[in-house]
Amino acid sequence: MKAVVNYADGPGKVELRDVAAPRIEGPKDIIIRVMAAGVCGSDLHMYHNSQGFPVNRPVTLGHEYSGIVVETGPGVTLFRVGDRVVSETPAYVCDSCVYCRTGLYNLCPDRRGYGVLEDGAMAEYLRSREAICHAIPDNVSFEAAAMTEPACVAYNAVAYHSHIRPGDDVVVFGPGPIGLMAVQVAKLYSPGRITVVGTNRDKSRLEVACRFGADQVLVAEETDVAAEIRQYGDGLGPDLVLDAVGISVTLKQSIDLVRPGGQITKIGWGPAPVGFSLDPLIQKAARLQGSFSHNWPMWEKVLLLMARGELDPLPMTKSYPIDDWKRAFDEMDSLAHAKSIVLPHAGAAKGEPA
Ligand SMILES: [Zn+2]
Ligand SMILES: [Zn+2]
Repeated sequence: MKAVVNYADGPGKVELRDVAAPRIEGPKDIIIRVMAAGVCGSDLHMYHNSQGFPVNRPVTLGHEYSGIVVETGPGVTLFRVGDRVVSETPAYVCDSCVYCRTGLYNLCPDRRGYGVLEDGAMAEYLRSREAICHAIPDNVSFEAAAMTEPACVAYNAVAYHSHIRPGDDVVVFGPGPIGLMAVQVAKLYSPGRITVVGTNRDKSRLEVACRFGADQVLVAEETDVAAEIRQYGDGLGPDLVLDAVGISVTLKQSIDLVRPGGQITKIGWGPAPVGFSLDPLIQKAARLQGSFSHNWPMWEKVLLLMARGELDPLPMTKSYPIDDWKRAFDEMDSLAHAKSIVLPHAGAAKGEPA
C-alpha cells in the first residue's frame, strides 16, 4: 500500500513508499481504511528534522485521521466492518500505570503515538485499537472528522485546563490549527472579546480566525500588540491568554499582558530556555498552565459539537490526494492555509465507502 514515510534522520527524508499493509495482531485490533489524514505541525517538524522528540524511523507519518473499519479482531464488540470511525493518537499505552487506570492515558509514560513511534495514518490502511476508536456522526465528513484530533487539543486546553467564564476577554497567540480551533471552542463560552495575534506571514490564517469568531486580529509587525490590547476593556489585560505559539518571546508577552489573577494556558511547544524572569507571574498571582493531548470524553464531546455545527474545522483546511503529499506539506509550511489534509483514497473521501 502507499504510505508517506519518514525514512531516515536529516531534513527532507520523507517519500511516498510502497509498504506492507497492517494486519490484525491482537484481539481488540481494528484495521481502518484511512479516508483522510491531517498534516500536523509535528509532521512538518519531522519532515525538516527539527522535532524535539524521539522518532522511530522509518515511520509512516500522520496521527489525525478518519476512515472505515475494514477488519476487526475477534474480541472487538463495539465496531463492525463498514463503520465510519475516527481514532485517537496513542498506538500503544501500558494500560497499567496510574494514568492509564484513571483515564488519563495521554499522560502514560510509555505512550507510543502514531506517526512518531508507530506507523501512522498517511497510508491506505492503519491498525488501531477498539479502545481509542469513536463513531463519526452521519453528518460529519471524513475530512472534518480527521480534524477531531487538533480540535480536541484545543478543547482540552480551553475547556479542561483553562478557567473561562462568559464575558471573559481572551487573547490567542498563534493562528495555526490549534489556535484557530481554540477560538471556536472559546467562542462557545460567549467571551467578551477574542483577539488573535499573528505575524505578517499569517494573513490568510488570520482571515480564518475572523471567520471562526475572533473580534479582532493583530499583526505583530504592524501593531504594538501590548499597547493595543491594553486599550481594551478596563485596561488591566485579558482574563485568559492561550499561547498556541510556544516560543519564549510569546510566553514573555503573555506574562506581560495577562490580567492580575488571570491565566495563561500554554499549548505551543518551545524547546529553548525562556531566558527571563517569571516574577511577574508571582506579582500578578497569575496561573501558568500546560495542556497536552486529550482523552476519551473530549473526543466524544468534540464529535457531538461538530455534528451540531458548533465546531467546524473545514474552513481552515485544504485536501490533496496522497500522491501530492509533498505539495500538501509545502503549501501548509508556507502558511498558504492552516491545515493540509492527505486523502489516501482520493475521490472517495467526501462520500461513502468506495
Ligand atoms: Zn497533531
Ligand atoms: Zn500507562
